[in-house]
Amino acid sequence: MSELKTVVCPYCGFGCRLLVDPRTMRVKPYKGEPNRGKLCPKGLHATEFVLSGDRLKRPLRREGVRIRPISWGQAIDEIANRLLEIRELYGPDAVAFIASSKVSNEENYLLQKIARLFGTNNIDNCARLCHEASVHALKMVVGAGTQTNPYEDLERFGVILIWGYNPAETHPVVMDYISRAKKNGAKIIVVDVRETTSMAFADYGLVIKPGTDIALANAMMHVIIREELYDDEFIRTRTTGFSEIRMAVRKYTPEYAEKVTGIPGETIRKVAREFALAGSGAIMWGMGLTQHVSGVENVLAVIDLALLLGYIGERGGLYPMRGQNNVQGAAYMGALSEFLPGYVPLTDERFRKRVAKIWGVEDLPTERGLYLTELWEAIENGDVRALYIVGENPAVSEANFARVREALRKLDLLVVQDIFMTRTARYAHYILPASAFCEKDGSYMNSERRIQWSHKVCEPLGDSKPDWEILTMLGRALGLPGFDYASLEEITAEYFRLFPELEDRSVEELKTGEGIFLPRKRLHTWEFSTPDGKARLIAVERISPWEKPDSEYPFILTTVRLISHYNTGEMTLRSPSLVRFMGEPKVFMNTMDARKLGIDDGDWVEIETRRGRVRMRVKLGKVPPGVVAVPFHFKANRLTSEALNKAGTPEFKFSACRVRKL
Ligand code: SF4
Repeated sequence: MSELKTVVCPYCGFGCRLLVDPRTMRVKPYKGEPNRGKLCPKGLHATEFVLSGDRLKRPLRREGVRIRPISWGQAIDEIANRLLEIRELYGPDAVAFIASSKVSNEENYLLQKIARLFGTNNIDNCARLCHEASVHALKMVVGAGTQTNPYEDLERFGVILIWGYNPAETHPVVMDYISRAKKNGAKIIVVDVRETTSMAFADYGLVIKPGTDIALANAMMHVIIREELYDDEFIRTRTTGFSEIRMAVRKYTPEYAEKVTGIPGETIRKVAREFALAGSGAIMWGMGLTQHVSGVENVLAVIDLALLLGYIGERGGLYPMRGQNNVQGAAYMGALSEFLPGYVPLTDERFRKRVAKIWGVEDLPTERGLYLTELWEAIENGDVRALYIVGENPAVSEANFARVREALRKLDLLVVQDIFMTRTARYAHYILPASAFCEKDGSYMNSERRIQWSHKVCEPLGDSKPDWEILTMLGRALGLPGFDYASLEEITAEYFRLFPELEDRSVEELKTGEGIFLPRKRLHTWEFSTPDGKARLIAVERISPWEKPDSEYPFILTTVRLISHYNTGEMTLRSPSLVRFMGEPKVFMNTMDARKLGIDDGDWVEIETRRGRVRMRVKLGKVPPGVVAVPFHFKANRLTSEALNKAGTPEFKFSACRVRKL
């Protein structure tokens, strides 16, 4: 048997490590942290898509309606010349870059470096579509936009509140930690808009009306304040804003919240007491909170709830559970249009100039760039003329994708760097074949901010190249300084230099150890990362969804994830084992609602919103009346609304729809 290589799972942000046999490409679980010998079906079959017969193997150029192979040298020269021409004609902000939460830290670091040296902050990644609302809310309250504690802490808390998040399907291995917590005596509370698989495991399962999370959080705070269950000393010494919260939640009695949320007032009271009296606790949340027009405010409300009880640092943790395997790394490396690496604001002159100096220039652009979700209007208006995409598939992953596809057609230059001919790549002028995760080395950061090294298992397929090599060639062709890297490790060492916490750490340590936490394992233990060291409690009021059900579109459409599939399906739908495991995708409907429309379990239906239609078979049950839940992976974004919250995330979780039996 050949030597097994340790590789970071290419799927979710939990960050399991896989042991891959280079000869057979079979996968076994890594025994150490964080997965402790466990893997979910996606991880176990992670190499199957790599072996798919339709991988891109050569650079391609569109010539009219045809796509023809060209050499790497020609492709990179032509792309660089076209980008420079567009900058000359329209300025640097006419060009935008989309980074990838599936490629390594080094690759995200390089792409944002290219964008900023090119002269624009138009660099973003799909964190915008999932947890950017969490980043904005956490930065406002505690001063740092990331998960506060490691997974291991979950096992020692007295209560775990899981809100708008279904770990049993999205991060199955974290359920192992939650089970151990339960065995240790923790109470598990799950709040969701349907009966999820995680809810089956909970002590309290609260099915909430979509879009009413703030009312529930405020009502729980109402009970905690009224019954004086809060941590008075913590509030006095470590927070500001308590009196505003006290005033704001006064009207949110459990009985008032019952009318809004559909959860009985007595249950709200019981759960608030259980949560408060546990003595320590975690709140884990997902896109059920963030993908709303009220996304930032939803997250603020649950952070307030934790802080009232001092559930942070040693006694608790805030866990915005990340979707993709390197979404945390992409954001931390600076692939966001409003932040430099380390989430440092563009306006921080001292840090900005330090980064500029390391990159060999005087200064960097200071104007916020466009959010990923703002690009489509900018393309429609002619403000953005060229788009360079690494490993993203916006023609399927963006809300209301029909509009996105129209915008992609309008571009003067579209470059897509990917491993497959994705739906987005079909619109591209140039398609660059990238190597898959196990064909290259690189570092990745999981949801708990653990940087881990992923080792190369096999050679790149055909003429494909690792993304970092392609970007190094592009940087050189654009004439940017500092793109003379002779190895990947030189890029790792360069990003280490940006963070004081990594200055004394070595790339070798990263390659051989159990990972390095950035900035450190547990945050906010003694003081918060705010200017005065205190957390700022921020009171929030309910915000209505952008689109409401009416007589024409009477149902609420929400999107959900499935255990064996992943995002736009480009990887999992090419994995025969996962496709077999999952079977046919189905839309979830309430049984009574379905009967009224003459729909039976397994019937074909058409789901329609003001933006488009999707056809699927029906699965009855597990969904409250008035709600229709569509798996996200199967073109659900033909239906979703592009209304944005303050962090630029669309309201994927709430649209008005109608259903018709076919
Ligand atoms: Fe991969 Fe996430 Fe499954 Fe772990 S839980 S094997 S990281 S998909």
